[in-house]
Amino acid sequence: MQKRNTILLLGIFAIIVLIVGQAIIIKGVWQQKDEMLYLRYKSLSLEAVTALRGMRSFDPYDTVRFILDNYSGKVVSELEEISDNEQKLAEKKEDILKYFTKVLDSEQDLSAYLSKYFESMGFEKDFKHRIEISNLDIIGQDTFRIYMKESFMYRQPSDRADISIDLKGSKSSILVYRTREVSNNYALYFDYYIDFSDKQKMILQEIAWSLTMSIFSMLIVVVIFLYTYRNLMEEKRLSNLKTDFINNMTHELKTPLATITVAGKTLEMEKIRADDSKILETAKLIGKQSVHLNQLINMILEISMWERTQFQLDRKKIDIEEVMNDIVSSFMTGCGDYAALNQKYRFNGAKADIDLVYFTTLINNLLSNAVKYSDKEPVIDIEGITDDKNICIRIADNGIGISKNDQKHIFDKFYRASSGNIHKYKGLGLGLYYVKKIAVAHGGDVTVSSKPGKGSIFTVTIPY
Ligand code: ADP
Repeated sequence: MQKRNTILLLGIFAIIVLIVGQAIIIKGVWQQKDEMLYLRYKSLSLEAVTALRGMRSFDPYDTVRFILDNYSGKVVSELEEISDNEQKLAEKKEDILKYFTKVLDSEQDLSAYLSKYFESMGFEKDFKHRIEISNLDIIGQDTFRIYMKESFMYRQPSDRADISIDLKGSKSSILVYRTREVSNNYALYFDYYIDFSDKQKMILQEIAWSLTMSIFSMLIVVVIFLYTYRNLMEEKRLSNLKTDFINNMTHELKTPLATITVAGKTLEMEKIRADDSKILETAKLIGKQSVHLNQLINMILEISMWERTQFQLDRKKIDIEEVMNDIVSSFMTGCGDYAALNQKYRFNGAKADIDLVYFTTLINNLLSNAVKYSDKEPVIDIEGITDDKNICIRIADNGIGISKNDQKHIFDKFYRASSGNIHKYKGLGLGLYYVKKIAVAHGGDVTVSSKPGKGSIFTVTIPY
């Protein structure tokens, strides 16, 4: 038990170490890709903007300039009109700033230019951009300060150059283009950024393959571990079952042996020897117990024989109803008035290809269990039907029933439901194991449905 727990703990520990190790590696790869992505776009942007500076024929903000100048010319008179009303003025300024940002954002050709440039260099052409206005003045007769970013005030004049590039700053965006626009009606400073706020998706795409492989390998390790652990538990369970079997078997063998020993001792007594009838009675007892002992030993021998060889069925076409009647009536003779057995067959004269000896063992095992696992007078209903492929036999009892958990195991070799192990009901845990084996060897199956305290129903199907 302790050894098993140690193995389990070690296994879990190893898996945790593996997962943590993988997570560290993935994190490292992620950071590396993050850095690479940033550096790649940083240098590409730098190249692109340098190339742009050399072009005289192309200005990505031509349209913008035209629209904004027009707009400023109109809006300046509105500003003059409301210059006394502070609230209205503030609202108007906010609108103007929004409009400028919108036009700068949507009417520029820089994004298209960069996109083409990135593509021509063989890199991802889709990216997001962001416009940040640092300072905006509308110029009429008076100058209206629409907006000034606090940090702009402290900027060095050289920072305010026409087209410049500043690649410092946060890694979630790259400043590509900083410009000053001064026209008749406005003065504007703004920055154009490549936005990386959703770069996770880009990185994920790049490392998708290695991430999948790593998750997959971890899954395989976990599955192998669980599988191995399950096997270990199964082995443990089987070894427990074997121990139980040996205990049960010893108990079964000891009972007739003890009776025979006592009977032998009895025969030694002079008083008994003088009485012929007592001698006969004791001899009969010894004979009966010897037969029982012999049966037990044969059964054990049979077990090992059945284990070593495959079932050799000697199949013959047999009228199933006739066979069932024979088996049940000889079983009834065996248990006298003790149990009530009701039979109801609708086999329609079906003949099945069965081995009579094994089939008889199968039905007998089920019937004797139905009698054995009963705490009141047993009432057993035996029903038989056929469909177009199978014969189906149901044996229902009013016995102690079987718990859901035990139902999963009762067909296992040596398995006895927990109450069975304390010798209240004698047995070796082999009856149902053989029932299953015999049914399967005939190409059929056996199933159980039961409720503790209410009784059990065993259903055997065999093709015919
Ligand atoms: P055994 O009877 O020797 O213990 P079996 O393989 O015949 O072995 O049965 C396995 C277990 O299934 C039994 O220990 C018993 O707990 C349970 N069982 C079998 N048949 C019945 C039944 N008709 N009613 C209640 N429990 C049953």
